[in-house]
Amino acid sequence: MIKDLYDISGKVALVTGGSRGIGRAICLALAEAGADIMLNYARNDQAAYEVKRQIESMGRKCVTVRADVSKYEQAQNLGKAIMNHFGRIDILVNNAGVNRDRTLRRMTPEQWNEVIQTNLNSVYNCTKAVIEYMIAQNSGVIISISSIIGEMGNIGQTNYAATKAGIIGFTKSLARELASHNIRVNAVAPGFIETDMLGTVPEDIRNQIKAQIPLGRFGTPEEVALSVLYLCSPAASWITGVTLRINGGQYM
Ligand code: NAP
Repeated sequence: MIKDLYDISGKVALVTGGSRGIGRAICLALAEAGADIMLNYARNDQAAYEVKRQIESMGRKCVTVRADVSKYEQAQNLGKAIMNHFGRIDILVNNAGVNRDRTLRRMTPEQWNEVIQTNLNSVYNCTKAVIEYMIAQNSGVIISISSIIGEMGNIGQTNYAATKAGIIGFTKSLARELASHNIRVNAVAPGFIETDMLGTVPEDIRNQIKAQIPLGRFGTPEEVALSVLYLCSPAASWITGVTLRINGGQYM
């Protein structure tokens, strides 16, 4: 049955940055498709708790863990916590990310480093935290959230673009390294999505961006989450090393 191919019942997923925006939608989609969730977030206890409540109302388990995934030790503790709570890890979604936009001439070392550490080092940190468990299980799926900006570039986003392009190279290399362990590694590159992150962009710039999108609107977190669910599910069993673009046609 086709619908069985999207069923991930009994799987356990770790989603970083799951309290808001795209990460929140990913948590809810994976839970609705049957997975139990470990939801990581940085600061926003109330938002994380609200997502947990929604997941539990679906009959799934959800554990929330506040941790800064840009820090290696905190990420390793996440890996240990998921094994303590659930005894397995099937899906890692590297979603946590920030932007600190400035032209390079104005960008401080702090702004450069914060974005590299949060968006790119976190992918290394969290993947390291789970891969030995996945290898021991001889199965797993790793998805990292890249961005249209990683492929297209954008004024004021050299730091952000470097991390998102880095994720694509990381994904292709790791997909080759882990294929023999039955672990699939993919990326999703969203275009402009209606979240708090997009809310920081001034209205006139938002309108200019929208005019460049052939489908004529911004995407929703739920649309990105469905792509992630697809790549996590048995329906995508022969897909590894890809970057799936979901951007309304803005970059082809
Ligand atoms: P968002 O609404 O700003 O949410 C960011 C999430 O990441 C929050 O859950 C936040 O936790 C968490 N987070 C931030 N720093 C963290 C850290 N150091 N450790 C753990 N968690 C951390 O962002 P979004 O728009 O949903 O973006 C999610 C991902 O999609 C990012 O990687 C982003 O680059 C990417 N993306 C977004 C767009 C877009 O248009 N929105 C487009 C392409 C790609 P708290 O709630 O606790 O702060």
